[in-house]
Amino acid sequence: MLKDKVAVITGSSSGIGKEIAHTFAKNGAKVVVNYPFERSAAEAEAVVEEIKSNGGEAIAVMADVSNFEQAKELMKIAVDTFGALDILVNNAGITRDMLLLRMTEEEFDNVININLKGVFNCMKHATRIMMKKGGSIINMSSVVGLHGNIGQCNYSASKAGVVGMTKSAAKEFASKSLRVNAIAPGFIVSNMTDKLPEAIKENTLKGIPLNRFGNVQEVANVALFLASDLSSYVTGEVIKVDGGMAM
Ligand code: NAP
Repeated sequence: MLKDKVAVITGSSSGIGKEIAHTFAKNGAKVVVNYPFERSAAEAEAVVEEIKSNGGEAIAVMADVSNFEQAKELMKIAVDTFGALDILVNNAGITRDMLLLRMTEEEFDNVININLKGVFNCMKHATRIMMKKGGSIINMSSVVGLHGNIGQCNYSASKAGVVGMTKSAAKEFASKSLRVNAIAPGFIVSNMTDKLPEAIKENTLKGIPLNRFGNVQEVANVALFLASDLSSYVTGEVIKVDGGMAM
C-alpha cells in the first residue's frame, strides 16, 4: 500500500511510533525512525535492523522535535537518503501529569514544546518539501484533547492544539494534494500508559464500551489507512481509535 513512499515517523523507537514504522515498512515504505536523545539510540537501531532483516529499508535519525533546527535536519536527512518525502507522522509525545494547582511552569512548557510546537516544527519543514508533489501528514492527538482529563491540562491543551493545527494545515495545503489528518487514540497499551496507577486503569476500563484497552497495531492500522491512497478523499479529519470511549 505504500510501495516506494518515504515516511518520517517521529518518536518511533518505541510504542505506537515503532509499530507504525514496522507497519509502513511491511507495506513497502522507506522509513526514517526518529528518536530524541542518545538514550533511545539502541532501540531505534533495533527497529531499523528488524525492518532490514524483513527486506525493508530504514534509517535511524536522532532529532528532538521541539528543536526547530533539528526538525529541519530530520527532513533534510530523509530527502538526502531516500530522495523524497511522502509521509510524515508526528507521533512524538510526552506526558507530565499533575493537577493544575500543582503543575509547574516547566511541566506545562515541556509538554507544549514537544507535543504541540514539535508538530509545528516538523510540519513547517516537511510541508515545504511535500507540497511539491503532495502526500500525507498524520498528527497524533488524543481523545483527551477532545474531552479534557483530570491532571492533564498541559497534555490536553497540546493535543487540542494538534487538532486545530491539523485542520488549519489541511485547509492550507489541500490545493497541493497534501492531506493532513489526525488520530485521537484512547487508552493504548504502551510505555506511556504502563506507568499509570492500577486504580486509574481500572476506572478508565469501565468507560470503554469495547471493554478492553487498545493495542499499538490498532493505531498503526489507521495510520496506514491515512498514509495510503485508500484515504485519498480524507483531509482535515480526526479519527478516534478508542474502543468507543469518547463517543
Ligand atoms: P511512548 O512509547 O512513550 O512513545 C513516545 C515516543 O516519543 C518515544 O519514542 C519518545 O522517545 C518519543 N519522544 C519523546 N520526546 C521526543 C522529542 N522531543 N523528539 C522526538 N521524539 C520524542 O508512548 P506512545 O503511547 O507510543 O505515544 C505515541 C503518541 O501517541 C504520543 O504522541 C502520545 O501522546 C499519543 N497517544 C498515546 C496514547 C496511549 O494510550 N498510549 C493515547 C493517546 C495519544 P523516548 O522513549 O526516548 O522518550
